[in-house]
Amino acid sequence: MEQKRTEISQLGEFGLIDRIKNNFQSLNSSSIKGIGDDAAVIDIGKENLLISTDMLIEGPHFDLSYVPLQHLGYKAVAVNVSDIAAMNGRPEQIVVSLGLSNRFSLEAVDALYEGIKSACKNYKVDLVGGDTTSSPAGLVISITVIGRAEKERTVLRGGAKANDIICATGDLGAAFVGLQVLEREKQVFQSNPEMQPDIEKYEYLVGRQLKPEARMDIIYDLEEKGVIPTSMIDISDGLASELLHLGKNSNVGIKIFEDKIPIDTTAYETAIEFKIDPITAALNGGEDYELLFTINPSDFEKLKNHPDIHFIGHMHDNPNQNVLISKQGTVVPLQAQGWKHF
Ligand code: ADP
Ligand code: MG
Repeated sequence: MEQKRTEISQLGEFGLIDRIKNNFQSLNSSSIKGIGDDAAVIDIGKENLLISTDMLIEGPHFDLSYVPLQHLGYKAVAVNVSDIAAMNGRPEQIVVSLGLSNRFSLEAVDALYEGIKSACKNYKVDLVGGDTTSSPAGLVISITVIGRAEKERTVLRGGAKANDIICATGDLGAAFVGLQVLEREKQVFQSNPEMQPDIEKYEYLVGRQLKPEARMDIIYDLEEKGVIPTSMIDISDGLASELLHLGKNSNVGIKIFEDKIPIDTTAYETAIEFKIDPITAALNGGEDYELLFTINPSDFEKLKNHPDIHFIGHMHDNPNQNVLISKQGTVVPLQAQGWKHF
């Protein structure tokens, strides 16, 4: 008899995660939040422990022909810290696992750890362990981060209510546009190695791709202003996908306004140069590692003058209606493209 074979692409990444999740039940009452948020939430007494893990693989996630190892080390830590920020928590420790092929020298590993060290210093986290193995080809780096949040300050994806204001930090789409710049320069270089890469003009965009920062600064600002978001997620896959995660988990609908989406001027102009719609880059580009959160309207006054928090729309009570209002006033359904790994 022929064995049944189902392609993972039929489910997609989120379908696969849902399937795994539905097959497991928690056996410990300390497991407060398992699969399905930016980090797991573990009850350890007075506070919650937060755990999240992210793996970066040479090929699908990075290309060492234009990603310096130092930046890669920094980014691998930052993307993990970003998931702790998304829970309104503070990161404290990381463990780092490496798969290395013999293509990598000691100097290469040193460069990678220089970046890791610099991120540890910046985010005040301690490297407390890991694992090292050989890899048949390419580099694999997997980091797990541990953090903490006070119980009443832990923020999940599922707490938004109708009328809550949707906030996005920083600017969106630049990391995706930066990646297009790097890819183009790589092609130019491959066809003519004499050519020096022309990336000065695109420095900000390339920096957004190569060296993203986790927005811990926003977490400290929110605390100082006495605001606890009602729901939060970090923007790793693109604004649209993350909005839909908040909406689905909170059982509310989304309404955002195109003219409120923060896009950097160079990112806007460069997207056009690359024949990419800047809004599409912001909605579906990914890797911005900004924070997306909702607040109770009564907290608006406390945040309205924050230079790096943008109010892009609000939640409403129909979870089946997720829309973007374009600059012309047309209603466009929000769709998640995100990254397709499979
Ligand atoms: P993020 O983008 O915030 O890192 P992901 O989309 O990677 O989150 O994951 C969503 C949720 O699914 C998280 O809670 C994560 O821990 C969980 N998850 C992802 N892959 C697996 C897996 N293979 N087994 C169990 N849980 C997983
Ligand atoms: Mg996340």
